[in-house]
Amino acid sequence: MKIKLSILLLIVAFVISMPFIFNKSVTIKKPHKLDADGNFILNEWVASRDGGGPDWDYNLKPVQVSDRVWCFFGAMEMPTKENAGDMSNSCYIKGDTAWIAWDSGPSYKFAEQAYSKMKEIADMPVESVVVSHEHDDHWLGNNYYKEVHGANIIGPESINVNYYGPREIEGKKYPGMQTRMIKALYQDAIRKTSLVKVDDSFEETTKFKISGINMEYVRVGYAHSEDDWFLYLPDDKVVLVGDIVMNGRITSNRDGLIIGQLEALKAIKSKDWNHLVPGHGFITDKTGADESIQYFTYIKDRVLEGIEEEIDPDDITKHVTLEEFRNKDLYYLLSPGNVFRAYEELEMYDGDDEDDEDDEDEDDDEEEEE
Ligand SMILES: [Zn+2]
Repeated sequence: MKIKLSILLLIVAFVISMPFIFNKSVTIKKPHKLDADGNFILNEWVASRDGGGPDWDYNLKPVQVSDRVWCFFGAMEMPTKENAGDMSNSCYIKGDTAWIAWDSGPSYKFAEQAYSKMKEIADMPVESVVVSHEHDDHWLGNNYYKEVHGANIIGPESINVNYYGPREIEGKKYPGMQTRMIKALYQDAIRKTSLVKVDDSFEETTKFKISGINMEYVRVGYAHSEDDWFLYLPDDKVVLVGDIVMNGRITSNRDGLIIGQLEALKAIKSKDWNHLVPGHGFITDKTGADESIQYFTYIKDRVLEGIEEEIDPDDITKHVTLEEFRNKDLYYLLSPGNVFRAYEELEMYDGDDEDDEDDEDEDDDEEEEE
């Protein structure tokens, strides 16, 4: 039964990736909007559903990562009705008198259930939520923390710009944007979820102290998404990095940049930490970032090589297959797309490796040590 299922999954993944593998004529004008269903922002407004019956039970279990940090680890999958969006990692930092949440998960119900678990560890309110980036699996729990705890929400300005608040698009009025979760989740999981504004955004890397915890909120800019940030806890030697790092699965770079990713990974490596929590994946020790570094380095080197050898863009996903990652989750679904997108990006790239192939030191870097 299990074997049958995995064969079926393989076939499904293969069919989905067919346009990439046998791609002869796909032209992608806006590479970060690869397909309608994959978009984080829905093009049409869909009202939140409520309905009757008990809430979805996320069955959450916090895992202690360091003295002051606990995390909920999501499934290595795309968001589906079956996982109710619980496929990214979200954490709690234990302050002196309050909790600080890092990425609030895919829904109000997720956040509410996460808090009920943390309350058993220490009965304190959530004073602040810090958000890594604008993708909806990382911050749709914000309105729970806002409404119930009055929490202050710190995050990228792009959330307010791209998702929040009424707007008019091509003559049509919308109360705000809606995200893919509204489609992906059953009503018993998505109920009560609404998009709330980020209260505090910063232009640059900022240090602050919340409930006795020193934090450095580091801006790495356009890397995995339009605007990525990671949170460094220097006293705890922990770094919470959002989707700049994934391990055990293939990343989705449909919104990102290879060069930006590599720069962001360098900024993470430059900090002194013992524990790293990825946006997706379970490896939290000192090797936590290694897979991502290897994946993006290989893509960059091999796609540039392909461009050098004048491989046709339609053939690049056959040429650069990243065999080393074939057994990682979501390989068939996401890796060809990442390669194709890398081709589009790197075609224009006239970066650092005129004279050497390995990019140990890129000197055209402005924000290396922010
Ligand atoms: Zn993301």
